[in-house]
Amino acid sequence: MAQQCLTLLGATGTIGCNTLEVVALHPERYRVFALTAHHNVEKLAQQCLRFAPQVAVVADALDAQRLRPLLTGVQTEILYGPEALCQVAAAAEVAIVMAAIVGAAGLAPTLAAARAGKRILLANKEALVMSGALLMDAVRASGATLLPVDSEHNAVFQSLPHHLSRELAAGGVSRITLTASGGPFLRRPLSDLARVTPEEACKHPNWVMGRKISVDSATMMNKGLELIEACWLFEADPAQVDIVIHPESIIHSMVAYVDGSVIAQLGCPDMRTPIAHALAFPERIASGVGALDLAAVGALHFQAFDPQRFPAVSLAYRAIRSGGTAPAILNAANEVAVAAFLERQMRFDQIPGLIARVMDALAPEPGESLEGVLAADAKSRATAAALIRQQGAL
Ligand code: NAD
Ligand code: MG
Repeated sequence: MAQQCLTLLGATGTIGCNTLEVVALHPERYRVFALTAHHNVEKLAQQCLRFAPQVAVVADALDAQRLRPLLTGVQTEILYGPEALCQVAAAAEVAIVMAAIVGAAGLAPTLAAARAGKRILLANKEALVMSGALLMDAVRASGATLLPVDSEHNAVFQSLPHHLSRELAAGGVSRITLTASGGPFLRRPLSDLARVTPEEACKHPNWVMGRKISVDSATMMNKGLELIEACWLFEADPAQVDIVIHPESIIHSMVAYVDGSVIAQLGCPDMRTPIAHALAFPERIASGVGALDLAAVGALHFQAFDPQRFPAVSLAYRAIRSGGTAPAILNAANEVAVAAFLERQMRFDQIPGLIARVMDALAPEPGESLEGVLAADAKSRATAAALIRQQGAL
């Protein structure tokens, strides 16, 4: 088969590295066109030496200068800055774009890939949360393909009827259930949450992930963002999507049908499975993930999620129901709050309260343009930062 060219946005992150592991198993199928990083020049250099991409993108001129001497023996062109990310996402040579930048920084290049009609493998859920209408419209207008890499959404996608183009009801779907591990603090006494450290919050029981999404998993804002992501990807009403705690992370999510059937996707908690699925869809390729041994797992548990322990989820329901720029406001306030927690400027249990105050302070607007979404993002960041500054220890 002809090789397909791939741009990997966020190559040096957890998803980026896992993607390269899958790609390395299938050199006859995939060729790396571009790898992008932010400031992690050393890791990007190692990846460039191994995969010899045509282009490497870093954050700024200084990073480019640091990268150059590390790339001996490969003909990789070095670019830098946000515009270069959009350029490699939309390049004519490229068929597949893995969107694996963390946070709002991934929006513009993901949108560029959508406008250029690429097959987009979406890990960067924040991009879709911020600009659901915009991104989905761009995908439809250009004929791009958007495939979910987030394990829950990939599971839902695999559990939906394949002939289903859009309407859930037409396919007999009654509900989508997202599973959630509950993160590291599922059983911590609530009174302890004021004292938990960034290190504890980043220690996820089942998954190895970047720091931001690890904190999101601990607050369960990750599930809130995933709720919004599911509404856009599957054209679901928020009332059709529910959340169940499943601490083993073996069932990655499920779809219930009107006849009472429930179809779920299971697997070891390893992101290489959804990555390989999205890379090769509708074919199947090896991912390097071992077979699931249910006898060794022993038991699967489920419990209702407790909105008092995880108030972030209600904020996400509120944002998607408000519509317009409300999800962008939620997302930006969360990014600022998580960064402040990681820098020890605020406590873990203050994160949802801060986001709620930003949402109270800013009225959502229609959000039909990229400029509108970015303006809401900027306003939310400024409001969140001001609140953190004003309150000191909130
Ligand atoms: P990570 O922190 O490990 O990696 C982030 C990547 O983005 C790095 O390559 C970094 O260089 C790049 N980056 C960061 N800031 C940037 C900026 N301003 N401009 C350009 N590049 C920038 O994160 P991750 O865990 O790989 O997650 C990436 C995305 O995938 C997130 O949106 C996350 O929610 C999503 N996701 C991750 C997992 C997982 O298991 N890790 C699962 C589902 C979804
Ligand atoms: Mg997920």
